[in-house]
Amino acid sequence: MRQEQSGRNSVQVGIHNRQLVLDVIRTNQPITRREIARLTGLTSAAVTNIVSNFIEQGFVREVGYGRSGGGRKPKLVELDKGSRIMVAVDLAGADQIAALLDMDGNVLCRGERRIGSAKGVTVADIVDAINEILDTPEARSGQVVGIGVTTPGLVDAATGTVLKSVALNWFNVPIKAAIQKHFEYPVFIGKDTHVALLAEEWYGAAKNMQNAIYLWVGPGIAIGMLLDGRVYTGSTGMAGEFGHVSIDYDGPACKCGSWGCMEQMASLRAISSMAAKSDRDAEGHSGDPEERYVDPFNVLDAAEAGDANARRIVHRAGEYLGVGIANLINVFNPELIILGGQIRPSDTEFIEAARSSAMSRVLIEVGSAVTITASKFGRDAGLVGASALLWKEILRDLAESE
Ligand SMILES: [Zn+2]
Repeated sequence: MRQEQSGRNSVQVGIHNRQLVLDVIRTNQPITRREIARLTGLTSAAVTNIVSNFIEQGFVREVGYGRSGGGRKPKLVELDKGSRIMVAVDLAGADQIAALLDMDGNVLCRGERRIGSAKGVTVADIVDAINEILDTPEARSGQVVGIGVTTPGLVDAATGTVLKSVALNWFNVPIKAAIQKHFEYPVFIGKDTHVALLAEEWYGAAKNMQNAIYLWVGPGIAIGMLLDGRVYTGSTGMAGEFGHVSIDYDGPACKCGSWGCMEQMASLRAISSMAAKSDRDAEGHSGDPEERYVDPFNVLDAAEAGDANARRIVHRAGEYLGVGIANLINVFNPELIILGGQIRPSDTEFIEAARSSAMSRVLIEVGSAVTITASKFGRDAGLVGASALLWKEILRDLAESE
């Protein structure tokens, strides 16, 4: 889509300037007004005016003094991260819970129960979980500003509709409208990989980066792409179905109709299937390995503890993941690959196997500058991502209101 290039009236200029100032504070805090003026190109008077208004509204505060260039020391300002709190709901993670977060992406408290059941998730389940979290002392003592929801599947972000999610057993569910009916707070919906990448861009490893790829590994695999400083979502918002890129044309059949997809070879489901097959072989039984379910996190934990069979399985999946990562690096030439989703920073056997497999395959010239790292958010990626999604919208509103 071509970028709109139209003239701006004075109201639009005002909003644009306020957004600019807010963004500079967020990414450089704590910061002096003089430094904000330098980074935004606005006059000192304009910056002073805007910052005073933000302080009046209570979401920016003064905090100590910066270095003096001669004369009085200038005051530093920063976002008052405790001044607003938000509800985040993660339907994509292994935990599927609601939580409260502050403006800095810190989890203040989390719901006790997992949302939904093995049969799937209903709107009533989500509403119950949100009500539970709104009833905590943390929510009652703060200023709740909205509800952010992370969902798996194919998502139409503009209408807040989940078009298809096998994990939730949803088809064409207008989830944003369905939740919004129950609450006065604004509700925002985002696809798991897009919001997880947003979390990295706002609070994590991709801060101030231009080209980064977030690899979401769970039962399935998908990617979020930050390209030339923008989250790339594709022509219809569905970019990133990396789990169905085939890396073994002779591999096992996939439900998508192809063979040897990333998802079949390198996901948590793949680890689970390999472990089930290994157990069955050890016991000398025959039959469908899918009949027995092995928790992939148990396999990852056993690999960390040094169990030889678990290590073999985890390394195998990690090597396949590395093949996919090398392909991504060769195509996109990113600065950073973030391994996240349901993968935890402590899954070092899996992460290291993926990293060394990727680096042994990538074109040296393309991959020499890339860093492959685990997301520091671990299983909270969906919650932190939902909060980043919400803050982005809320801060835009705050910048627009005077
Ligand atoms: Zn597939």
